[in-house]
Amino acid sequence: MNANRLLISVLFATVLCSGDGIVAQDAPDTIDPDEILATARFLASDELAGRNFGSPEGRIAAVYIASRFEALGLVPAGDEESYFQSVKKGQNVIAKLPGSGDPERSGEVIVVGAHMDHLGVGENGVWNGADDNASGVAVLIAVAEALSRGPRPARTVIFATFDGEEKGLIGSRHYCEKPPVALEKTVLMINLDMVGRDFMDFFPIFLFAVGSESSPAVREVLEAKNKEGPGFRLLEFTAALLGQFWASSDHLPFWEAKVPFLFLSTGMHKEYHKPEDDTDLLKPKKMARIAGMVTEIVRTIASAEDRPMYQELDQVITKEDRAGIEAILGPAIKLGPMMGLQPDALERLGKIESRVKDDEHEWSEAEVNDLCKELRALLTRMR
Ligand SMILES: [Zn+2]
Repeated sequence: MNANRLLISVLFATVLCSGDGIVAQDAPDTIDPDEILATARFLASDELAGRNFGSPEGRIAAVYIASRFEALGLVPAGDEESYFQSVKKGQNVIAKLPGSGDPERSGEVIVVGAHMDHLGVGENGVWNGADDNASGVAVLIAVAEALSRGPRPARTVIFATFDGEEKGLIGSRHYCEKPPVALEKTVLMINLDMVGRDFMDFFPIFLFAVGSESSPAVREVLEAKNKEGPGFRLLEFTAALLGQFWASSDHLPFWEAKVPFLFLSTGMHKEYHKPEDDTDLLKPKKMARIAGMVTEIVRTIASAEDRPMYQELDQVITKEDRAGIEAILGPAIKLGPMMGLQPDALERLGKIESRVKDDEHEWSEAEVNDLCKELRALLTRMR
């Protein structure tokens, strides 16, 4: 980090902490940051050659994940009573923790998913994909471990690591075509994709929690568990809006099937889809906090009397979208000149900010397009 970047990050921290004074709490003792880091380190090692879809190293990653599931005593839920679900030349790895409730509730499932593939080897070396998405798989395994040790929830929990996400959500689409438990019985899907860093390296307290608009019950539990636990500043963008300025991920096919979903991510950074996305940049304590929160969310929803129901969104830009945009735009506008933003760009962002602050504003399609274009440009620039 050069002096300029350091100064900017100090200023960002000042801007952010002036608000709600959040103090992060450590994860419960049952979740070990070192173990999470060790998992990510294995998956993102040079020997695994970037876990390209259909590669022998991708297969090694799958066998490794299956062996972790087996060690936890999870039940295979892939093809022919194995942990593997073949997907073209690759494979998803799927295991379940059977529910302890009455047949109706134990017949329902929560899916915790994370993609395990990355982009292989390129001209500049191995694309290790430590944050994208060894981090998500490592957190998923920590959640599986915590849940399998504690009291058994009433509903079944499925742990799925998807292959071929980077090639167009191949594994998660296949899962939704051939789910081990019907999607009508799937009450929630939690997607963990890039959960090991700080957004733009500047925002340690931000956590993207996209999709909570898909079910009021899920939103309520998410917000309560975050408050009790890690105290992140949640950016609850709607999936519809986020998808217009940032790439999508494995929650998409579940959303299309009207399954309530939650996409958790610590967000973009400058090593995104570059060979430099390495393990030494991961933040294991933060990953453990996320794993602790996800464990609590799953436990609560899996044990609740009623299942969360999917809700269709009828708004273009919700109040949560506006809060998320403000959280990103505020500091960007304040520090724009230092980031080299030209006056005309600052003026455009200022115009968007005032629209966002006006809760009466009726968004036209052109304005939404404009907003997404500016956010995309800003994210690229901040990276
Ligand atoms: Zn990813």
